[in-house]
Amino acid sequence: MLLDTFGRQAVDLRVSLTDRCNLRCTYCMPEEGLQWLAKPELLTDEEIVRLVTLAVRDLGVREVRFTGGEPMLRPGLVSIVTACAELEPRPELSLTTNGIGLARTATALRQAGLDRVNVSLDTLDADTFFTLTRRHRHQDVLDGLAAAEAAGLAPVKLNAVLMRGVNDHEAADLLAWCLEHGYELRFIEQMPLDAQHGWDRSQMVTAEEILDRLHARFSLTPEPSSARGAAPAERWLVDGGPASVGVIASVTRPFCRACDRTRLTADGQIRNCLFATGETDLRTALRSGGTDAEIGELWRTAMWGKKAGAGIDNPEFLQPARPMSAIGG
Ligand code: SAM
Ligand code: SF4
Repeated sequence: MLLDTFGRQAVDLRVSLTDRCNLRCTYCMPEEGLQWLAKPELLTDEEIVRLVTLAVRDLGVREVRFTGGEPMLRPGLVSIVTACAELEPRPELSLTTNGIGLARTATALRQAGLDRVNVSLDTLDADTFFTLTRRHRHQDVLDGLAAAEAAGLAPVKLNAVLMRGVNDHEAADLLAWCLEHGYELRFIEQMPLDAQHGWDRSQMVTAEEILDRLHARFSLTPEPSSARGAAPAERWLVDGGPASVGVIASVTRPFCRACDRTRLTADGQIRNCLFATGETDLRTALRSGGTDAEIGELWRTAMWGKKAGAGIDNPEFLQPARPMSAIGG
């Protein structure tokens, strides 16, 4: 088991498949991109499958989510999903993606055993999409969403980050559009995880503001907290349900005390929190002939040291050295 000193158990593994991306979201990366990891530093497909196998078989992991960077850029994605779907006990498999390329790959991913996708889309307007991502790929994302739905990767979830003065006026429109299409929308408060350190607490659109904007058009009923489990999103039933909307308020209403996540970076480091300042190197152990028992012990020790909370809203908060795209969002 992956336990920590606060009694939490990590059962949800986030695997970053690459730090690269084909978009340049302003809240994530600078326009020129980043210094990408060199190929030899990246875990191979086989190394990833070995670590996921160990996590599922020996460490109690029940859910595996592939992310990045943009995980669809990883050539071995479908075969990694196939191998993970054959594990016993079979973990739940999902993917967080910007949706580009999903139109082509959704069916293959579904057939490989992927259960669900979260697609990130912050705006319904193609020009605003360009302002936010610096790429003209809005239609590709819309096509990807439709393909995911058609392939049965349901329920399709949509992640949206609101940026003041850019797309924050679209909160209610995004929700109306998701209701119309049967997508489950979750807003994410902007976090201080961008490489260029551009996050400004005073400019951030808070959960409270997001809810105010939604309340102007919809009636929202909070879901009982017992229904939330370890989910980072607080959820509200929209206009009496059954549709719902979520808000992940990592800054203003953090939910660290129920966190059940463990993270593996594309270069084989374990992080016990998105905001951890330290990492545990599994790649060296893997490549120097470490046994499953030895690697499992390193992983357990990494999780045991997990802090009580990230404390983003505290004055002494320190942004981690690696940006979100390199950790795996
Ligand atoms: N490229 C994929 C995507 O965009 O879905 C997966 C990786 S991305 C880092 C994962 C999620 O993190 C996306 O939903 C994205 O909007 C969100 N994200 C990125 N930077 C963020 C930030 N600074 N604050 C909050 N969410 C952020
Ligand atoms: Fe790429 Fe996702 Fe970061 Fe946007 S949020 S730049 S799509 S990794």
